[in-house]
Amino acid sequence: MPLPVLERAASEMSNWSDAQGRPSGMGVMEMSHRSSAFTAIVQHAERTLRGLLAVPEHFKILFMQGGGLAQNAIVPMNLCGLPGAGLAAADFVVTGSWSQKSLQEATKYCSAQSAASSADGSFHRIPDPAAWQLRSDARYVHVCSNETIHGVEFHSLPDLAALGSKAPLVIDFSSHVASRPVDWSKVGLAFAGAQKNLGPAGLTLVVVREDLLGHALDICPSAMDYTKVAANASLYNTPPTFGIYMASLVFDWLVAQGGVKAIELRNIEKAALLFQTIDGSDLYFNPVDAGCRSRMNVPFFLREPALEAAFLQGAQEAGLLQLKGHKSVGGLRASIYNAMPLEGVQALVAYMRSFERTRA
Ligand code: PMP
Repeated sequence: MPLPVLERAASEMSNWSDAQGRPSGMGVMEMSHRSSAFTAIVQHAERTLRGLLAVPEHFKILFMQGGGLAQNAIVPMNLCGLPGAGLAAADFVVTGSWSQKSLQEATKYCSAQSAASSADGSFHRIPDPAAWQLRSDARYVHVCSNETIHGVEFHSLPDLAALGSKAPLVIDFSSHVASRPVDWSKVGLAFAGAQKNLGPAGLTLVVVREDLLGHALDICPSAMDYTKVAANASLYNTPPTFGIYMASLVFDWLVAQGGVKAIELRNIEKAALLFQTIDGSDLYFNPVDAGCRSRMNVPFFLREPALEAAFLQGAQEAGLLQLKGHKSVGGLRASIYNAMPLEGVQALVAYMRSFERTRA
């Protein structure tokens, strides 16, 4: 979280003021989600995000609950309704743990299949789109546009139409949302848990093209039916109000940073510094193909794994936290989301260089 956002939230925790500075006499957590004060907050959040991400008007922006994993079920429940019996088709490009989980979950609701997978290469690359096995009757094609655990990022989204598919592209952009612009002409639906780049856990963002509404399975719970959520401007049920408020402060912060293009430049600089340090060292390495290395999540490994505990201990002492790799892949991982300043990455690489000098 950006520090100014936390400080602003702290300052109005018990007494939120509106855009004109008029105190409401209560904190956001105490407001009715139907109050005019909260309506102003959610509308501001929607408007600001639409501007930041240049979301076209024919897409709905929904604020929901359940996180990224719940969307693995909510997406097929919303897109795979068929008039008769039978299961609709959905294709998945499996480039790491998160797209793998999406595929597994979707099999409960549709005929979900892998169109391509890089599992044979330990999820270090993106399979060539020209070789994807896309079915002509697929209701959607799913990719995880940034694989948080394996550190694999799509630096340009696939153009399904150019690949001969009429299906809409669904992207799980949980871990790089708002870190770079999105080419909406290639996207039908995008979802993201808020907790990386948007705000606290508990809020989920869905951006969905209007023509994809109205195709839900009968079993889709009403509170998870995009059509109902959209018709009620994200207030069908009580939304995660505090999360939406925090996200709106993050959106304001992003605007103040110069918007998503400016943040993207900063993210490129941060990632380049870290990758140069890794590639230029004899101790560290990153196994991901150069063309799809994530700017947000940088897994790296020590050529002498026995030094890992000492690396982490020294990092902790230097105030460099949460560098342990995900338990499924081991090693180390630096997650350098939007709110991580360049100085944070500079401090990390300085520590990495000094650790290598003294230990290797
Ligand atoms: N997708 C991606 C890309 C993620 O990084 C995560 C969480 N790390 C998830 C889905 C799951 O999100 P949640 O825990 O919010 O359900």
